[in-house]
Amino acid sequence: MKRVTKVLALILAAVTLLSVMTIPTFAAYNYPMTCTVYYKNEKGKQIASPSTFTVNAAESKEHSRGVSSPSISGYVLKDSNDSYVTYEMMDKSFPASNYVRQGTAPYTVIYTDTVYHYLYFVNGSTRRTIAPSATLKGTPGTYYNHIPPTVAHYTPGRTSVSGRFSTSKTSTSETIYYYRTMYTMSYNANGGSGAPSSESKGSGWDYTISSVKPTKVGYTFQGWATYSWASSASYHGGDTYKLNQNTTFYAVWSRNSYTISYNANGGTGAPSSQTKYYGTTLTLSSAKPYRTGYTFKGWGLYASSTSPLYQPGDDYNYNISRTLYAVWEKEAPPAPTTYTVSYNANGGSGAPASQTKTKDITLTLSGTKPTRSGYTFLGWATSASATSASYQPGGSYTANASVTLYAVWSCNHPSSKKVWDTGCDWRTVCDNCGATLSSGTLHGPYTYGDWVYYSGSQHSRYKTCIHGDYTTTEYASHNTSAQYEQYSASQHKKYSYCADCNSTVGTTSYESHTFTSSTVNGQVVSTCNLCGYTKTMAQTYTVSYNANGGYNAPSSQTKVHGVTLTLSSSVPYRFNYEFVCTLGKRIPRVYRRNGEITEVKDYFENF
Ligand SMILES: [Zn+2]
Ligand SMILES: [Zn+2]
Ligand SMILES: [Zn+2]
Ligand SMILES: [Zn+2]
Repeated sequence: MKRVTKVLALILAAVTLLSVMTIPTFAAYNYPMTCTVYYKNEKGKQIASPSTFTVNAAESKEHSRGVSSPSISGYVLKDSNDSYVTYEMMDKSFPASNYVRQGTAPYTVIYTDTVYHYLYFVNGSTRRTIAPSATLKGTPGTYYNHIPPTVAHYTPGRTSVSGRFSTSKTSTSETIYYYRTMYTMSYNANGGSGAPSSESKGSGWDYTISSVKPTKVGYTFQGWATYSWASSASYHGGDTYKLNQNTTFYAVWSRNSYTISYNANGGTGAPSSQTKYYGTTLTLSSAKPYRTGYTFKGWGLYASSTSPLYQPGDDYNYNISRTLYAVWEKEAPPAPTTYTVSYNANGGSGAPASQTKTKDITLTLSGTKPTRSGYTFLGWATSASATSASYQPGGSYTANASVTLYAVWSCNHPSSKKVWDTGCDWRTVCDNCGATLSSGTLHGPYTYGDWVYYSGSQHSRYKTCIHGDYTTTEYASHNTSAQYEQYSASQHKKYSYCADCNSTVGTTSYESHTFTSSTVNGQVVSTCNLCGYTKTMAQTYTVSYNANGGYNAPSSQTKVHGVTLTLSSSVPYRFNYEFVCTLGKRIPRVYRRNGEITEVKDYFENF
């Protein structure tokens, strides 16, 4: 459109000039054109002051005049042809009148604040597009950073694309090349040697595992695994490997094994085969074969071997499979097959005769029983000192051995005697066999100490065995008798006395004497028959008084033998009577007779 506009403008200008030039015919003719160049952004906003200049449109040489577009920070020309704007490029306007020769020619330069950077993603090998291109859009002079897209199995030449948007051009471009991602397939002999060389595997490509086999002495190559400690192979030569990663294949080895077989070589019971592994020591089976009439000597390398090379349980170190043959040695003739069973009465008599036992056949022992005075036969034993029987008459004997059987006796102990071995210990001993049947201790006779007071009821004394091995204390009740002892004229004291321990026992009491009296010559002799106390007193008599119909007789009086008594001087009385003696006719007599007087009434009658 713009170009069309320009062309139309030129045509119009040319027509105008032609028409003008048709009027003036000389060069002094002028047609001034005011040219204005505007600077705007894409939104139409003016971003710099316009430039103006004047061109004489009548002078064709002036038509190339123009102005350079200024540099404006943050902007670039949208069209690089606008870097220098000439009169020719402008939109010219010619007034219609030939007499007003003054025109205008505006032109607007568009600046843009957006520039583009195009990124192309190409397969580096085939030079063909591998991913859609990217358009980076930005302000001129600023920086950009872009991560190329991920393409399966490929790796871009640059992991990021960075740069600066152009400040002069409208757009720039760049090509990023992609190459197939490669992985390293390594091989590790894992203790062996001869591993294949490393190879490369393109991502997404199938990889064929190398058929080269490494070697290791004593081991067999099993294949490959992806870790060194694998015990079984995951991959083998020729296998297809698809994983897209760096990979190390480790050789998997199995220890070589060897078989050791056993041949009983005429016998039976050969051990089972054993497996021996390379580099290890095998312990040969400890089992031994058997062959009747032969002794097993060991193992040889041949059926004809006569001396053994190995014994059961030996170490075997060779890395060779082989069969071991039993080596046999013929045994000596078998042992005797009969045995003698002898009998020994062992102090008695009548033992049975010897018997013969056949190997592995049970012998019935003799039923005969020996005898011994004073003893009971218990049976038979293999020892003369046995106290219990192992065999009985008529019993079975199964051992494959000769033997002497001894009678086992039990004493009946028909009589015994008591013996004192030392001091007070005694035993009852069988007269027959001398066995001790019973025993005990019996002390005595004893020696005794004196009785001594022990308590209110007992006294005690020491009792010692005359053998000096035993002393004890013996107790007995006091042997008491009542004892009396004069205490006073009226009492004696009474107590118990034990003569054995010479002690007074119990409480002392006091009681009156029990006198027995006799009178001799007016003397009364009284003796206590318990304590023996004796007292002597003169005989006495009583003089009594009888008032004899009166009153107030005197009290009785006592007359001592041989001593004069003065009669009472008191006087009785009687109504209408006169006690004569008081009248003085008679003086009361002195009573001199040493005899009993019961009353004195006579006095009244006589007087
Ligand atoms: Zn006895
Ligand atoms: Zn004793
Ligand atoms: Zn006593
Ligand atoms: Zn007395």
